[in-house]
Amino acid sequence: MATRDDVLDELNLLPRWQLRAQARVAPAADVPAPTATTPAPDDVATVARVAPAVVHDARASRIAGLAWDALAADVEACTACGLCRTRHKSVPGVGDTKADWLFVGEAPGAEEDARGEPFVGQAGRLLDSMLAAIGLSRADNVYIANVLKCRPPNNRNPEPAEADACRPYLERQIALLQPKLIVALGKSAAGLLLGTDATIASLRGRVHDYRGVPLVVTYHPAYLLRTLPDKAKAWEDLLLARSTVAQATPRIDA
Ligand code: URA
Repeated sequence: MATRDDVLDELNLLPRWQLRAQARVAPAADVPAPTATTPAPDDVATVARVAPAVVHDARASRIAGLAWDALAADVEACTACGLCRTRHKSVPGVGDTKADWLFVGEAPGAEEDARGEPFVGQAGRLLDSMLAAIGLSRADNVYIANVLKCRPPNNRNPEPAEADACRPYLERQIALLQPKLIVALGKSAAGLLLGTDATIASLRGRVHDYRGVPLVVTYHPAYLLRTLPDKAKAWEDLLLARSTVAQATPRIDA
């Protein structure tokens, strides 16, 4: 059985907090954050109230060091939010891990949840057509991921806490991939990556910046299936995306 020290090692929670004799169980409001000189109390009840931010940071740091295979395994085993209880399969991402293009959607739907691959349902078939229209395919020079790696029940919108818990995975995917361009598909992806609540209509038509990576916003394929007239705007967005990639400086490993 894993010991407490094993768990702390796994979470990267160093230095280890030592049990003080008769440690006081402080009320949540007056429990100070642990510092180098003020180690956190060690009793389970207090740690449970002090530690969430610390655990969150430690988890994010650990994920920030994962390679592709370890990242996929971590997503598969993830229990950081309640979606782990309802998912059938987690959906880390798919495609060419050396791709110039990264497409980011919202969250897996029913078919994605069953197969463990993003955008394999009706919206995915439209995305494949959109890729083909600009000479791309999901097998070549494209990587596809979602903000959430697990399906929200009944395809409801991601909750902020779920997006926050999943964020380190997408950040690591972007860091590993170093794409020339990110295409944010819909409001969830654009909102998470750009830190905004703005509408797609106000965000599309120009090139944004995500930590030095150009980012273009377009409509989500599921929305386009319901709103055919906006397909013309999505086509304009893809042309903007294509010219942005064409102008990007070559990658060092290219
Ligand atoms: N919609 C998304 O945003 N992602 C998928 O993977 C499927 C549908």
